[in-house]
Amino acid sequence: MEEDKHTHSEDCSHEASLDEFEEAGKIASRIREDSKKLIMIGEPLLDIAETIERMINDEGAEMAFPVNISINEIAAHYTPEFDCTRVLEENSIVKIDLGTYLNGAIADTAYTIDLSDDGRHESLVKASQEALEAAIAAIKPGERVGEIGGRIEEKIRARGFKPISNLTGHMIKTNELHAGVEIPNIKTNDNYEFQVGDIFAVEPFATTGSGFVTDLEQVEIFGLYIPHQVRMRQSRKILQHILENFGVMPFAERWIRKNPEFKSKLLVSVALKEMLEAQIIRGYPVLRDGGNGLVSQAEHTIIVTESGNKITTK
Ligand code: MN
Ligand code: MN
Repeated sequence: MEEDKHTHSEDCSHEASLDEFEEAGKIASRIREDSKKLIMIGEPLLDIAETIERMINDEGAEMAFPVNISINEIAAHYTPEFDCTRVLEENSIVKIDLGTYLNGAIADTAYTIDLSDDGRHESLVKASQEALEAAIAAIKPGERVGEIGGRIEEKIRARGFKPISNLTGHMIKTNELHAGVEIPNIKTNDNYEFQVGDIFAVEPFATTGSGFVTDLEQVEIFGLYIPHQVRMRQSRKILQHILENFGVMPFAERWIRKNPEFKSKLLVSVALKEMLEAQIIRGYPVLRDGGNGLVSQAEHTIIVTESGNKITTK
């Protein structure tokens, strides 16, 4: 998940420990590596998302957000629909973004796979990877986030691509995937200085396109704002289901429809619409590069320490 902070604050007072953040990271890292074998031509997107989500649950964790499978010019926030039949196609460039949630601790990691027959996307894949490595190497206590954005931009431009300027890395806190402070993908004057104990997701995006993403109409991922009364009976039941099953973390329409009671696409979309209008939930529209360029992404979660940082998702 990118951009926009999660404004909901959990009333539970448990503050996750750094050990718990490291544990969430280890799980995310194992699943990231295991999941790479699923990213093959002909593989159904729905199977990939559900398999990765099952792997997260099998490790005793929950999803920090629905698995994002963003293909070609789509940068982020796409997760398969409940009845999605699409399969991975030859020559596409595929971003897999997954997050684990463990007692409030969160890990967020992403990678890109080139499904071309001739390695044509290799340089674009490397651009975001190299930017991620350079950013992590440069992050230390006292360093400013805007300078790190400069390191990311430099690496991506060195390969002839553009960084996506309106997607950012983000601070993570207990129960908060987007905790306010951002790491831009371009050089800026943002002067927040990294501090020991800060947790950040670092996530450069490189593109052959405009370097600016725009919202599509399609929305598959939602997050809770502030639960309050909804008018329709079905919406009340779905809100109750969201509160009980997904809590404060983003969820997919697909997840709601897995429950036999909420199988109807029409009923669920009417309820989601009512809750969006009442600002009980917010939507995360699918994001596409404005110039329809191809996009790559690489992401790790780090803890800032005295001597640089620890990559929890390594
Ligand atoms: Mn992230
Ligand atoms: Mn992510």
